Amino acid sequence: MALTGIQILKMLPKKNCGECGIPTCLAFAMKVAAGQAEIETCPYVSEEAKATIGEASAPPIRTISIGSGDAKFVSGGETCLFRHEKRFEHATGIAILMKADEDEASIDGKIVRFNAMEYERVGVYMRANLVALQDTGDGAAFTALTEKVIAKLPKAAVILMSENTENLKEAAAACGDRTPLLYGATGDNLDAFAALGKEINAPVGVKGSNLDDLVELATKLVDAGVKEMVIDTGARTMRGCFEDNIVARRSAIKEKFKPLGFPTITFPCEMTDDLMMEAMISSVLMAKYAGIVVLSDIQGDVLFPLLLEQLNLYTDPQRPMVVQEDIYPISGPDENSPVLITCNFSLTYFIVSGEIEGSKVPSWLLIKDTEGLSVLTAWAAGKFGADLIAAFVNKSGICDKVKHRELIIPGYLATIKGELEEELPDWTIIIGPREAGHLPAFLKEWKPTA
Ligand code: SF4
Repeated sequence: MALTGIQILKMLPKKNCGECGIPTCLAFAMKVAAGQAEIETCPYVSEEAKATIGEASAPPIRTISIGSGDAKFVSGGETCLFRHEKRFEHATGIAILMKADEDEASIDGKIVRFNAMEYERVGVYMRANLVALQDTGDGAAFTALTEKVIAKLPKAAVILMSENTENLKEAAAACGDRTPLLYGATGDNLDAFAALGKEINAPVGVKGSNLDDLVELATKLVDAGVKEMVIDTGARTMRGCFEDNIVARRSAIKEKFKPLGFPTITFPCEMTDDLMMEAMISSVLMAKYAGIVVLSDIQGDVLFPLLLEQLNLYTDPQRPMVVQEDIYPISGPDENSPVLITCNFSLTYFIVSGEIEGSKVPSWLLIKDTEGLSVLTAWAAGKFGADLIAAFVNKSGICDKVKHRELIIPGYLATIKGELEEELPDWTIIIGPREAGHLPAFLKEWKPTA
């Protein structure tokens, strides 16, 4: 049963030293109780208390990690059924399948695509996270494929898929410190998987023939001391998988049913032969709790929409997305280029910068920190007033980058023009268009007056 903040406080050393990053033990205890801080961040708490609190405050969907460094993938840690209740914690992992007996050219193509396909949106870098390597019976070929992937895919966490734990052990050794997920524990090999998982400290993927079977197997693995697990109900239709994912998540969150309190792994690659259909199935499963989706391949038109969906689902709905306050050069501006200013709400930034880029007029875009509020909201909240804009312009360093002194402000801020001219007496304030879509035409007309 979850502990309250006061119960947790009683087990803390009460030094109030702030080394956990939170000024007092009481505040820290409250955050741990709310699932917003990890008990491990207090260096003084006893191992006994750590175990008690850790167990009681663990999220209903356990957090698991695969790999390390740039190749680390984390899943689980979920505490709610719906994003608006709080937020979803760790985005669905997108894995690409490679088989040990697959044609070398095909493997090489997948490696090239995996490395090349990285996208940046609203300051977030997005890509596929994992490779799922499938043993086809030849242990040497399986290990050779693993070695190749480890050498050529520095950002891929690895799933090793085999029913043969000897083959798994050898391939896992080739992963070095990139601890893989060992997938494929069934009723026939459960003990060997549990032993190997504990021996190399790797998470274990367990596959049931249905939900009931999965519960039984997962319970046995937990009893055997396996702490990190990924679960597969065995469903290989979109509907079956979708339903099972929902049952598993509801059971874990609402009923605190521990055997299903782990991230799920799903295999759209085994549900169809059509890559586009795999993407469609993946998009459905991502929306309903898939921890990992395994695709047979990735192409830009398949991966990119999935990454955007992932971005939509896994951003924190209570926190606006922001870009950093700064001067952003667009299309190689010089000392005669126009200077525009707007707020740091990500959507605004990307729309405005996109229109400027589309205009092909090299420009300087000043982004003022408005705590993620859009232009009018920020102005109404007192975060985008003339005094604050002037202070930012003066300290931004833009004066060293341009010869002219003309500042283009959003059309919606026309009312502060006079005030801003008083605050920035050396600058001429130009009112830009209200809609970003009108920026290209506006910029093409713009010329510095002096
Ligand atoms: S580090 Fe530990 S002792 Fe120090 S304030 Fe945080 S919880 Fe309290």
